[in-house]
Amino acid sequence: MLADLERLIELQQVDLRLQELTRQIELFPQRRAEAEQELARARQVVADGRARHTESLKERKKLELDVKSIEERVRKHKDQLYEVKSNEAYRALQQEIEADEKLKAQAEDRELEAMIAAEELEKQIKAAEAELARIEQRVAAALRQLDEEQAERQKESAEHTAQREALRRQIEGDTLAVYDRIARAHGGIALAEARDEVCQVCRIHIRPQTFVEVKRNDQLHYCESCHRILYYLPATPPGVEQPVEAGT
Ligand SMILES: [Zn+2]
Repeated sequence: MLADLERLIELQQVDLRLQELTRQIELFPQRRAEAEQELARARQVVADGRARHTESLKERKKLELDVKSIEERVRKHKDQLYEVKSNEAYRALQQEIEADEKLKAQAEDRELEAMIAAEELEKQIKAAEAELARIEQRVAAALRQLDEEQAERQKESAEHTAQREALRRQIEGDTLAVYDRIARAHGGIALAEARDEVCQVCRIHIRPQTFVEVKRNDQLHYCESCHRILYYLPATPPGVEQPVEAGT
């Protein structure tokens, strides 16, 4: 096989792997951000629960004060009952006392509701905190895993880049220029395998005479349809003796 063609085949493999590695490396910030978003969401659930709990405590405190001030007013009015001179004033005071006692009962009901709601919130917060702890562990492990994966990809990428440079130095300048031009124009794929008289990239039939020439691999041929450099890989030669199991 033409030495440059052999190197081009290798170069294409290295280039394709480099493309894939670059794509993967570019995805790492996004993958990290996704893991961190999950953590942020879990933290927000806990923070929201705590904020609602604080609100609920404030509400309860306010209701407690309401009840106290109503009680105070009722006590005053009850004392005044002994001092009023007319029946009308007495009845008016009694009505106020009754109205206040209703208000007090309502405030106490709401206080009880707030207490029950706070207990329910406390349960929810505990559950959200437990979930957060689990997610923190999982995300920390996922981030460590991503760090390791990224380091591996970058190491492999550096190795491939070095291999790429070494290969390119061995390929004749004009051939390399052709390779680069086709690769740029065709999604990074400059070479196409010719197999069974078909270009394996664009699936177009190769003329028998061209195929015969391509099979020699002794000069560069181009696919008439996709214009890539064609190469031929001989199949495992037939007639190679297969080991036969003894006794069969
Ligand atoms: Zn083609």
